[in-house]
Amino acid sequence: MYAQVIVDIAHAQVDKIFEYSCGDDVREGCRVKVPFGGRTVDGFVVALSEKSDFPPERIKPVASVYDEPPALGKECFALMQGLAQRYRVPKAVCLRLFIPAEMRAGRVHEVYKKVVRLKSSDIALSKTAKKQREFLEYLNSCGEAEYVACCESFGRGAVNSVIEKGGAELVKIKINRAPGGYEEGQEEQKVLTPAQQAALKSIESDGHTVQLIHGVTGSGKTEIYLNVISRALAAGKTAIFLVPEISLTPQMFSQLKRRFGDKAAILHSGLSAGERFDEWWRLKSGEAKIAIGARSAIFSPVENVGAIIIDEEHDGSYFSESAPRYSTVEVAQMRAKYNGCKLVLGSATPSVESYAKAVSGEYNLITLTERINGRPLPHITIADMRKEVKRGNNSAFSAILREELADVLEKGRQAIIFLNRRGYSHTVICQDCGYVLKCEHCDVSLAYHSDENCLKCHYCGAKYRMPRACPECGGLHLRYGGTGTQRVVADLKQLFPSARILRMDVDTTSGKEGHYKILKQFADKKADILVGTQMIAKGHDFPSVTLVGILDADMSLHFSDYRAGERTFQLITQVSGRSGRAGEAGKVVLQTYSPENYILRYAVNYDYKGFFNNEIDLRKTTNFPPFSLICRVMVTAAEDGAALEALKGVYFGCEALRERTPNEFIFLNKMHSPIKKIQGKVRYQVLMRLASSKLLPKIYDLAVQYSTAKALAYVEENPVNLS
Ligand code: ADP
Ligand code: ZN
Repeated sequence: MYAQVIVDIAHAQVDKIFEYSCGDDVREGCRVKVPFGGRTVDGFVVALSEKSDFPPERIKPVASVYDEPPALGKECFALMQGLAQRYRVPKAVCLRLFIPAEMRAGRVHEVYKKVVRLKSSDIALSKTAKKQREFLEYLNSCGEAEYVACCESFGRGAVNSVIEKGGAELVKIKINRAPGGYEEGQEEQKVLTPAQQAALKSIESDGHTVQLIHGVTGSGKTEIYLNVISRALAAGKTAIFLVPEISLTPQMFSQLKRRFGDKAAILHSGLSAGERFDEWWRLKSGEAKIAIGARSAIFSPVENVGAIIIDEEHDGSYFSESAPRYSTVEVAQMRAKYNGCKLVLGSATPSVESYAKAVSGEYNLITLTERINGRPLPHITIADMRKEVKRGNNSAFSAILREELADVLEKGRQAIIFLNRRGYSHTVICQDCGYVLKCEHCDVSLAYHSDENCLKCHYCGAKYRMPRACPECGGLHLRYGGTGTQRVVADLKQLFPSARILRMDVDTTSGKEGHYKILKQFADKKADILVGTQMIAKGHDFPSVTLVGILDADMSLHFSDYRAGERTFQLITQVSGRSGRAGEAGKVVLQTYSPENYILRYAVNYDYKGFFNNEIDLRKTTNFPPFSLICRVMVTAAEDGAALEALKGVYFGCEALRERTPNEFIFLNKMHSPIKKIQGKVRYQVLMRLASSKLLPKIYDLAVQYSTAKALAYVEENPVNLS
């Protein structure tokens, strides 16, 4: 037999299929070790054949086979081809997506516990063997027990003697490391509303592969997804359910576990390596049928997929930020086509691009306009911060927000305060010379963190001591600029000394189940106010929350990026959706310095269609996506010289393309990236706006061609983040 092997090396030069001879222990899809260029490397068997075209003396044998069932299925290889072609990355890099990192590194294995089990209770024991007799009696009463625990209680010698004499045997039992973080319990039966039924019917009978559900927050989208999954299972198939990482909350787990029990496997970053590994194998073996997770769960090893669901489809986290820089919706479409199943996208604020596809008929559009039980959407009040400043209020809170907070506290309800900046202050500025404290490795200002009394770089994580004086001029008047979550908590404590306040941001949620602990405390009403970043915007269902304060709605509005308006609209709608989800009507206070902005006007009225029509007109007249494609080739390197070399290569390559097809280019230029340095690497870019995706493959080729050992060039399409 001969095995066609892709070696696990991420390099374009070895991105081929190599042939090795093998025995019948090698199966398609399994991992092997093979001799390669004088050493032994890991490889994936993509196919087997009886014959080979090479002369036998040139073929080497497979060195060894991993002792595990084949990890890769047929669909992986089909997707690998599609991804490698689309994103110009070596096939090995694509295959890695399908296998848990822990497994490739060989760091995690199945775990077993050793158990002693009773074999015979009447074996001859000497009179003096007191411990042995005690152990045997104990085992007689319980049948089996953990080996380690027995050794602790009765002594290793006694336990081993009983085993030797045939009184007990040692067995290995596989432990399934099941992730926790959810609550058991019974689920209340729900009768689908007519709108939910109509949505389900549409998903089942409509001919489009992609179904877009546009449903206001609390309109029962999740319930529709769960029904789509149930139906896939009933048809003997599997399902994939994707949500943004931060929506993978305990509430979500609990809901899914109650509905689907052990059929659901949950993959997320809070799991230990062992747990993730075991959940993966449960999916691979077919024991679990539903893969639930963030972006990377689109590569779950489920077979015969009956439905794929992407919740909050507009979320930026669905774009991968490392190679291959794939769009999850695109990969999901590939899988849906391969399996002949539906892809359901859902959001209260679909991305302009997706909604445009629905309007043009490429996707089927399903609209849910009302919340379950007709609960009203929370009323949004705009607080004009310019007026507050005029009145002499320089705090982070408008008068109206303070009043509403006092009311919530008095009534024993809960409030959420949102702002998208962590730390105490965003910058530290010297008032004498104007110097702004910056990171040594990145071209960004440092944020002050009051809880650790230090400065942190939010790009590379570097920590610095807070200086007493300005490092430039020695001046002693350092001022904190820009409010962060820590400062908001400090200010709230002054305003409402008896209020119990929780903070949720990157700094408070590290560690396993960090999110869970904070959300649980808030859900259990151990706090009155939750202050947080983006993390609190999504998916949480806290019935007692009747007030949401949005402190810096403007921040994203002023980004110099074509998606700024879209993002602001999405953020306001998502955060507002946290208020008034149960009985009491909810309120939202939206603080802004530009109250007349049209995006805010649409957001306040929950007028998605109005927003969309306006936005799509704007994009059309200005020729921005979806009417064009923004393409950026990023170049990063430790040294300027190497970066500029690669930059020039890519840029002149693009120029040559423009000469041949001038109409394809709306814009082309090369420049420093907005942030000139991150983690010690300089950053440059070739930025272009293209009329279509026609030239993309050529641009990907240029990036590969000019990447060197010293400089990396890579392509980003309509990048979420242009920094
Ligand atoms: P969305 O995902 O659109 O924000 P959810 O699916 O979370 O909305 O539903 C909002 C609330 O309504 C949840 O508390 C959910 O349990 C409840 N709900 C959903 N569908 C029904 C139904 N058919 N009957 C009763 N309650 C429902
Ligand atoms: Zn830094």
